[in-house]
Formats: sequence, C-alpha cells, structure tokens
Amino acid sequence: MSSYQSINPANNQLLKSWPSHDAAAVGQALETADRLFHSSWSKGDIEPRLQVLAKLADLMESRVDELAAIASKEMGKLIGQSRGEVKICAQIARYYAEHAAAILKPQPYPSDLGEAWVEYHPIGVLVAVEPWNFPYYQLMRVLAPNLALGNPVLAKHANIVPHCADIFAQLVKEAGAPEGAWTNLFISSDQVAELIADDRVQGVALTGSERAGSAVAQQAGKYLKKSTLELGGNDVFVVLDDADIDEAVRQGAQARLSNCGQVCTAAKRFILHEKIASAFIDKFSAALKAARLGDPLDEQTTLGPLSSKDARDRLAKQVDEAVRNGATLLIGGKPVEGVGNYFQPTILTDIRPDNPAYYEEFFGPVAQVYVVGDDNAAVALANDSHYGLGGSVWTRDSARGRRLASAIETGMMFINSQSDTAAELPFGGVKRSGYGRELSDLGIKEFANQKLVVIA
Ligand code: NDP
Repeated sequence: MSSYQSINPANNQLLKSWPSHDAAAVGQALETADRLFHSSWSKGDIEPRLQVLAKLADLMESRVDELAAIASKEMGKLIGQSRGEVKICAQIARYYAEHAAAILKPQPYPSDLGEAWVEYHPIGVLVAVEPWNFPYYQLMRVLAPNLALGNPVLAKHANIVPHCADIFAQLVKEAGAPEGAWTNLFISSDQVAELIADDRVQGVALTGSERAGSAVAQQAGKYLKKSTLELGGNDVFVVLDDADIDEAVRQGAQARLSNCGQVCTAAKRFILHEKIASAFIDKFSAALKAARLGDPLDEQTTLGPLSSKDARDRLAKQVDEAVRNGATLLIGGKPVEGVGNYFQPTILTDIRPDNPAYYEEFFGPVAQVYVVGDDNAAVALANDSHYGLGGSVWTRDSARGRRLASAIETGMMFINSQSDTAAELPFGGVKRSGYGRELSDLGIKEFANQKLVVIA
C-alpha cells in the first residue's frame, strides 16, 4: 500500500491513494530533468520560461475554487484560507513572470581589475522537499524562481497531500512547461537521499521540521550540494503598554488560529507588557473561545481540524507535558471528542525555562503567554529561543517598534501587524529556523551560479 494517501482530517476518511514511484521511475525523472537542464530551455532565452509562469498564474486564478476545495478536503484548511493560498500562488508566479528578467540582468561591479559583472545562471537539477501546511504555496515558492532561472526541480511533497502535489504538477504542465521542468515524485526519505547523492542534482530546498531539515542538510553537506532550509518557528507577538490592544487581540487571535495554528511564522509566544497583560489576556481568551469549530468547507467555520490524527496526538501530548512541568492551562488543552482531528483553542501561562515547552514550537491552536516588565525583558525573552524565523511588535511609538524589531534575532519582523508573506518580500530565518531565503530577488539567487566575468 502506498504511503501517499489523501485522508480528510475532518472525518479521517480515506479519499484516495496514490502509487509510489519506484527506482526506475525516479531514474527516468532525473534523466529527463538533467537533459532539460542541458537544453536551450534552461540555458537559452528567459522569455519562454516567463511565459509559462504567466500562464500558470492565469490558470490558478481561473481555478481558485476547485484548487481550494482540494486542499481543504485533504489537509483541513478553511476554504477561505485555501482560496487565499491559491491566489498568493498566482501572485508569486506573476511576480517572477514580470520581474525575473530584471532581477537576473547581469550586475556591474566597479573594480580596479577592469570591466566586471556578475551573471546569473541556473546550476542544475534541484530536489525540493515540501510540507503539507501550505500544500500549493510551498511548492510555488520553489517552482516560480527556479523555473524563471532555468533549474529543473524534482519535488517530493508530504505524504498526506498527494492530491495537491498531483494537481500542481498537472497545472505546471498545462501552463506549457516541458517535461522535466517540475516533476512530482511520490517517494520515501531514502529515495530523497539517493537523489541528493546523484551527481546530476546540484541543490536541495526543504521546508519542514528540524528533524527532516537536519537529515537533508547532512546529506547535502556530505555530497557538497547547496541547501536552503525553512524550518520551524516559535515567533513572538510582543504587545507593549502603548499598543492598540483591540487590534493586537484581533490579529493575535487570527494569527494563532489561522490554518489551525500550523504556520511556521504564526504568532506562538505572546509577550505582554505587564501594564496591559490582564486586559489583553481577557480579550484574547474571549477571542479564542469564540472560535467556531467545524467543517473546513463551511464558510462559517473559523477553526478547522489539524492536518492529521498524528498531528493532533502529538499536540495533545505536548500540552499535557507542558502542564505536567508546571504550566497553567488558561483555556482549552484537549482534543475535541468526536469525529475529526479537532483541538480546542488553548492558552498556556506560567511556562518557565525548565519546562520543555519553553523552547518548543506548538504546531496547532496553542498560545504561550508571558508577561514582562519592560522592553529589554521582552527582547531578552524573545531571543531566548532556538528558533529565529519571524515575529511582531505592537506599539503606537514607531521608534520603539523599530528598536525592538532590530534587536529581536529573527529573519523577519512586522510592526503593528501579524506576520505575512508576499512574492516581492524575502522569507526565511536564522538559528534552528534554517538558512537561505525564498521569494523576492534574494530567493531566485539562492540556486543561481552568480558568475563573475572580468575584462582586463
Ligand atoms: P516533516 O518535516 O516530517 O515533513 C516535511 C517534509 O519532509 C515531508 O515531505 C516529509 O516527507 C519530508 N521528510 C521528513 N523526513 C525526511 C527525511 N529524513 N528526508 C527527506 N525528507 C523527509 O514534518 P511533519 O509533517 O512530520 O511535521 C512535524 C513538525 O514539523 C511540525 O509539528 C512542525 O513543528 C514542523 N513543520 C514545520 C513546517 C514549516 O512550515 N516550517 C511545515 C510542516 C511541519 P513525508 O511526508 O513523506 O514524511
């Protein structure tokens, strides 16, 4: 039986299984991708590649509802949020269709050695290992820049979202991409390791857990291949004493519940100034309790199920463990009885550094709340983390907001808004949140040969 199964997390019913790719199919896919890399598709004019991206953007926009329903049924995202995900994918494809040529123009470097410039060339076949939480967006973040640049991609998606993986590959083909430009592979971790070891593969991009990131980065390091990692986060949501509390509560609750809390850049650690802490906690608790659990396809639902039974069991165990080690459960804390992988919106307080939860990411609707006396304490607590992905700061004093945003050790900071993503902005983190950037001009250059040429 294939391990690639589409199971509706709202009722745990099997929708469909997909056969895995065997060694012969993987070998064939690699050969086709490598041949494409050595062809005029990858090495020639960028225009045909940009046309594919523009067409892909059109296709996704014209099929928003259908694609959104597939994601919602397969991994439980609320239908409105799934539509949003498909739309942002179209924006990313269009962004690179319109801007990649300018970004990849040779860049002059003033030098005493003569006329010098850097050219941007594709490096070869890449492997992309991607997670289920944004089953289209994660793929598009790798596809769009690398299609524009000319790197063929072999994609290994998470085994719980095969339908999204399959339809995404069909769309890329329908948009006019040649065979090998984007190949979906239903393969195991061992097969990923074999691909990374192959001389024809030049890089690997992974989004997922630290465990998966570490395994793939080790393999890439062993064979001296470039890698980018986008891993977990334990992002802070710092609310200072001069913040607009109602807006912070509204966006904080949205940030913690969106995608059922399964977002790497979601607000997870709420750090509150002591002067506003109790007002914030009262309103925030009310906002989380007001969540309406239900079918992700129902427009009235505001909190869907977790993506799988495993994910729910893992979260329940983690919350129990946090409480056993001294945390106080303010609201929620349990799986919802009955059908589906639902979990109560939860708030934990009194989490001390000796509690394992202090350093852990809760991938679900669980907020950790901390109270501090001043800005320095907020920064110190924010930085006492193994992660460094994103974060947000709430204050009416813009200079204060900028100071904290600079001092917090993460790859992305937002002042007076929750974390967000856009095609034109770089995405990525530091520390155990990984390395490298996706999207924007930075993302497209990660897997480029940035080649220096000098004429004396
Ligand atoms: P994983 O990291 O296990 O899965 C992400 C992807 O990596 C999947 O395609 C998975 O394949 C693959 N993978 C896992 N191990 C290996 C390996 N050794 N070699 C190659 N590929 C591998 O995430 P989970 O679904 O297990 O989620 C666990 C935790 O990871 C979450 O609770 C969260 O903390 C974090 N996470 C972070 C995400 C982010 O956006 N940064 C997204 C998802 C998870 P397969 O599905 O076949 O196992």
